[in-house]
Order: sequence, then C-alpha cells, then structure tokens
Amino acid sequence: MNHTKPNIILSVDVECWGQSVLDRSLPILPHAADNVRRLMQLFELHNAKATLFVLGKFAEVHPDVVAQAADAGHEIASHGYGHVEVFRMSPSEFRDDIRKASDIIAGIVGRRPKGYRAPVFSIRRDSIWALDVLADEGFEFDSSIFPFAGPRYGIADWPAGPCTVKTKSGHSIVEYPPTTLQLFGRRLPVGGGGYARLLPKRVLRMCFDRATRDRSTPPVFYCHPYEIDKTEIDTHYPGTPLKRRLHQGIGRKSFWSKLDALLTRFSGTTFGSAIAKATALPRITPGEPENCETPKPRPACATDIAYAADV
Ligand SMILES: [Zn+2]
Repeated sequence: MNHTKPNIILSVDVECWGQSVLDRSLPILPHAADNVRRLMQLFELHNAKATLFVLGKFAEVHPDVVAQAADAGHEIASHGYGHVEVFRMSPSEFRDDIRKASDIIAGIVGRRPKGYRAPVFSIRRDSIWALDVLADEGFEFDSSIFPFAGPRYGIADWPAGPCTVKTKSGHSIVEYPPTTLQLFGRRLPVGGGGYARLLPKRVLRMCFDRATRDRSTPPVFYCHPYEIDKTEIDTHYPGTPLKRRLHQGIGRKSFWSKLDALLTRFSGTTFGSAIAKATALPRITPGEPENCETPKPRPACATDIAYAADV
C-alpha cells in the first residue's frame, strides 16, 4: 500500500536536451513534450506526485503539457526561462529571467510558481545573491544548491538537509537540496543525474533507503524527461560529438525501469507537501552554514561498499 512506503521528493527539470545542454539557441522540439507525457504516465501508474521545474521556454512551446501535469496534481515550479546558469547573469538579468518564466507559467496554470531550481544547480557561493532575488520575487523554496564539492557547481559545506535561509534583505526562503550521501568523509551527489543513471537499480534503492532512514525530511530525487529517451541523441542530434554522446547517453536504456523500481519502493511526493509537513527547519544565513545541523559522518556500511564498487 502506498501509505506504508517512505516518501521521496520526486522532482523533474522539464526542458529539451538539445536546448539545455548543447546550445541554448536551439528550438524546443516536440519529442521533449512526448517524454514528459510518458513520464507522467509512469508517475500515474505509481500514484506518485512530483514537482516539475518547468523551463519558461518549454512552457511557451508546450503549454498543454504543463496544464496537463498541473491537472494531474503535480506541483508546477520554475526552472527559469532560458536555461542560463545563474552565475553567468547579473542580479537584474536573473530577476528578468525568473519573472518571464513565472509570467508564462502563471498564464498556463493560473498561479505563479512558488519553487525554483536553477539550470545546472548554478546557485553557488558566487551567486548566492540569487536567493535574495528569489525570495523578493515571492518564491518560497529553492532546490538549486548542491551540497558537495562539484567541479562546476555545489557548495561543499552547505547543509545536506532542508533549512530556512535568511537572506541579506531580511527575506526567508527554504533551501531544499538534492540528495547527497556521506561516503568515506566525502559527500556524493546520488540524488539524480549521471549518478542515478550509472548506479545499478539495487544500489540506487539502497542509497535512498539510507537517506530516508537518516533524515527526518524526505530526500530529493531529480531527473529529466530526456533520461528515459534512449534514441534521442541519434535521432534528433546525430552530429553530437562522441564524448558528449557517451556522457549524456549512458544509462538511458535502463532509466525507465530504474525509476519504475524506485517508485515501487518509495512514494513520490512534492516539495510543497514535504515542506508543509516539516517542523522547525534549521535557520541559517548565507556565509554561516556551519550554524546549521549537518548529518554526522558515519562509518562505512554495506551500502557504502557496494556503492563504492560500482562508481
Ligand atoms: Zn535544466
């Protein structure tokens, strides 16, 4: 029965692979919408609810898919408009980008989004000002800070669990990061992306088993509609260089069944619902994340060993 399953927050960045990853000037293609519809069917099969961070550019071209997802009870949030990394924008350009996306989304679903996720988790130390702009624009939560030391994104000492951030202007916004696990003293980003595509089904499930056990709030899983599309790159982007093709195409064949297995084990919920149920989130001010509780490193367990062997 669904109510006995542990909750995970199911989040999807709704975009078109070519436009988001290859070249921001490329159009949003029709097959991107088909992938969103297929994903919604899988969610429906499991009675799972998700938060969809919809790119404004996608919503502009495929408003029907966004409306359909909202009607199905999914939470419609914002992925900004043009898929430009936050640290490449000035605060005023960022404000214009998120405002434009919110206007488009509100025009489709009748209300402005309350949640935001930056393209490529691009709120880092050097773009932390974005939280202030988001809160000022009426956003209530954000899931853009990856709390690990990544090569292109992440803030290594950011709290792993959700917290309320007090911004420079005195606003508050909930920051709810994607899942990381502590492994041999290092945090690894197991909540989605290449890690989720590469990890065997069983290991991914064990990672989320552990994350649901260790924390009082549901851990965050994230994915993209294109990850279930194993023929996309060959069919629509045949000129893609080999290295990128391998990196971006790997794990797509098994992603559908992996997601199916994850949703068999866990109940998919939304950020809005998880935040409403959370009590007394830790409060921090940026620059002082050490004030917030972080999970304590723990000795390696069977999950760690299986996990390390597969990475
Ligand atoms: Zn994206």
